Amino acid sequence: MTLRLYDTATRAVREFVPLVAGKVGLYLCGATVQAPPHIGHIRSGVSFDVLVRWLKVSGYQVTFCRNVTDIDDKILRAAKAEGSPWWAVAERNQRAFTRAYDLLGCLPPDVEPRATGHVPEMIDLIRTLIETGHAYAAGGDVYFDVSSYPAYGSLSGQRPEHMRAADDTEGNDAKRDPRDFALWKGRKPGEPFWETPWGPGRPGWHLECSAMATKYLGETFDMHGGGRDLVFPHHENELAQSCAVLASRATCGFARYWMHNGMVRLGGEKMSKSLGNSLLVDAIVTEVRPAELRYYLGQAHYRSDIDYSAGALTEAVAAYRRIEGFVTRAAEAADAGAVAGAAATAEAAGGLPVAFTSALDDDLAVPQALAVVHDAVTEGNSALAAGDRAGAAKHAESVRAMMAVLGLDPLAAPWASDAGTGLRRVVEALVGVALGQREAARARKDYAAADAIRDELRAAGIMIEDTPDGPRWELAR
Ligand SMILES: [Zn+2]
Repeated sequence: MTLRLYDTATRAVREFVPLVAGKVGLYLCGATVQAPPHIGHIRSGVSFDVLVRWLKVSGYQVTFCRNVTDIDDKILRAAKAEGSPWWAVAERNQRAFTRAYDLLGCLPPDVEPRATGHVPEMIDLIRTLIETGHAYAAGGDVYFDVSSYPAYGSLSGQRPEHMRAADDTEGNDAKRDPRDFALWKGRKPGEPFWETPWGPGRPGWHLECSAMATKYLGETFDMHGGGRDLVFPHHENELAQSCAVLASRATCGFARYWMHNGMVRLGGEKMSKSLGNSLLVDAIVTEVRPAELRYYLGQAHYRSDIDYSAGALTEAVAAYRRIEGFVTRAAEAADAGAVAGAAATAEAAGGLPVAFTSALDDDLAVPQALAVVHDAVTEGNSALAAGDRAGAAKHAESVRAMMAVLGLDPLAAPWASDAGTGLRRVVEALVGVALGQREAARARKDYAAADAIRDELRAAGIMIEDTPDGPRWELAR
């Protein structure tokens, strides 16, 4: 089965055929860095990280470009409100986003361009649009002429006469049509500006992405992604700017597949800054571990909305721990190192289960893929209970290989980064001494002493579980 993806532009699931065999160019609209990320922001990063991992496992060489919008109305407003320079706000929040992506195990993009580093490319694009009759300068701004591009509205499926006015210029009436949008915004007092042939100013948000996507991936590339709230006007406008130029040369191009992830909602509303403060990534990872948060955000189908609730998060934590608990126990039960030390690759697992790969090939159906994982965990747990270590090890390898595709192999970095460190080995040895004394107390039927040891370990944050193979321990969470 080959990969099939839902394409927003055609409103259908269709087979993915790369522009160049074996290669994929992917552009993802990254952060507008006016505030630190909440889980709604980072969900997009996790969704597209699963896509990138799956493309790589499927044998594609991926060029992944995720931009940073570091100049924008919202950043300027945030900077003004806190009395800081705009660039300091952008820098601080970009670091917060990078930290959150890393924390949740998202692979770094191959290139992470910042808008302010690409003003010459934007000026070139504006020049071409003006020369080909798709843009005009007026009142210090430069606007895209929506009426010059008959396909405007095709991505979001709107007829031009039903479209709302572009609200990016605060009622500036220099534009010819209310739907025309700003490519370039004339200089305002106190705002940063760059010189252009049409006067000083700063770029419009939509123009930034067109310039960066085509610079790194070419005029035509495979996939463009982002949150569903970006379909209109952001992506519609990106497409118009980029395609109007290409259409004038009779080769319409830009992105060949448009992919959009669903929103994270809170009480039925899209998370906004005011609603989402308690759901900042930095806050949530004090409640649950980063791998558990990633599981929560990644388990739903990427196109579904997630209605955030503490209960659903707790359920996701339990589901992840069930998987983690199994592979950990299987690793302990197996010949030391045979499972824990093996790289969790598709090869080690003797190939991923067909049900798993077909689920991911079917528009990244992660819920169905996770059902295959959980079935393997159930079988593996039965094998463990029956004392079938080899059977358990085989299931554990398969589970780890599948979870690695989802970026969540519990025994691999970054989730297991503390395993094997010096401190972990010291704790292992000390707990071993205590457990030996507990066993000795039990052997002489001094249950009070045995229980006291268990209670002291628990007070120190170490949970003991008695299994047919003897006691095992883990840190309390
Ligand atoms: Zn964008």
